Amino acid sequence: QNKKHFRPTKAIINLDAIKYNVSQLKEYLKPEVQIMAVVKANAYGHGDVEVAAAAIESGATMLAVATPEEALHLRKAFPDIDLLILGYAPVSFAPFAATENITLTVFSLEWVQQVKELSLSHPLKLHIKVDTGMGRIGVTQIDDLRNLYNEITVSGKLLVDGIFTHFATADEEDDSYFHHQVSRFEEFLSSLPKKPRLVHAANTATMLVKDQTLQYDAVRFGISMYGLAPSDYVKTKLPFPLQAAFSLETELIEVKKVQAGQSIGYGAAFTASEPSFIGTIPIGYADGLIRKYSGQHVLVDGIRVPIIGRICMDQCMLLLPTAYNIGEKVTLIGKQEEEEITIDEWAKKGDTINYEVPCIITSRVPRIYY
Ligand code: PLP
Repeated sequence: QNKKHFRPTKAIINLDAIKYNVSQLKEYLKPEVQIMAVVKANAYGHGDVEVAAAAIESGATMLAVATPEEALHLRKAFPDIDLLILGYAPVSFAPFAATENITLTVFSLEWVQQVKELSLSHPLKLHIKVDTGMGRIGVTQIDDLRNLYNEITVSGKLLVDGIFTHFATADEEDDSYFHHQVSRFEEFLSSLPKKPRLVHAANTATMLVKDQTLQYDAVRFGISMYGLAPSDYVKTKLPFPLQAAFSLETELIEVKKVQAGQSIGYGAAFTASEPSFIGTIPIGYADGLIRKYSGQHVLVDGIRVPIIGRICMDQCMLLLPTAYNIGEKVTLIGKQEEEEITIDEWAKKGDTINYEVPCIITSRVPRIYY
């Protein structure tokens, strides 16, 4: 629901783009394979409930998050959808997960033993995570997998609903480490007495460019649901075009003329070399516009203009070609006329990956949907 916002700084989320990206993936997959929409971190900063609704409308049948709080938030909006926490949930959350029908990721025998001591109102669904090379969370040995599986299945209250792994190099051109992880996953799978309902391994890069045969029962679709490629390499190999969903806009709140030699902002880090027009916009590092982004271009009147000087907590300054009016629209991410500034461009400026750019736009920036 879009509310009234006073500050002009806002992220605009195109839900049709999300729907388009999910529909494209759906067509690309075998019909029986489920799409798990990865909506952790507030849907990579796009808004969890709104993105999840769009994804479900276009064919996603499961949601994946990282934390108990994210799962509880989505459960309120979607009482019946399959909902998996990919990351760590403490033992104390297990009774809530059972009551709310939230599926948990498990990788520790002690965790299972402690949960078995608790009283659960409903059966608790678990997906076993196997670490085939990511080195993050997951069972690393076949014997440990068997022990974990047995410990779960001897209990009437716990259910092995799934098993999964995560690839560390699916977005890279070199296949060797990826293949090593796939074989290790297959070894884990064949050591189980019975295949769980849901086997899954593929993230976006695995599915779109690495190996389309690794669909198993479900595919975890994250970054490309938002219209972004997981890496430059993947971008050159995409099987279908993607539509970016995230734009970031604000307005000029002050425009002033300065003389040559006049400095701007903290540390007087920018000094005008000639008479110049300086525009101020109400967005700063407390909104996720980290100081490293200084120098990045934004769009005013269809023209690229740079952020100059140090980015402040709530504001930053632009070097304008002319004296625009107060209230002139400024597009930080998105299109104006023929020009476009992408999340990928911001990521390069910030020496980071595109995933990080919308994720760190803070909750102070309202998300507006259309
Ligand atoms: N699966 C797991 C376990 C993840 O941690 C992530 C994202 O970090 C994903 C799937 C989604 O990956 P991507 O956004 O590259 O599709």
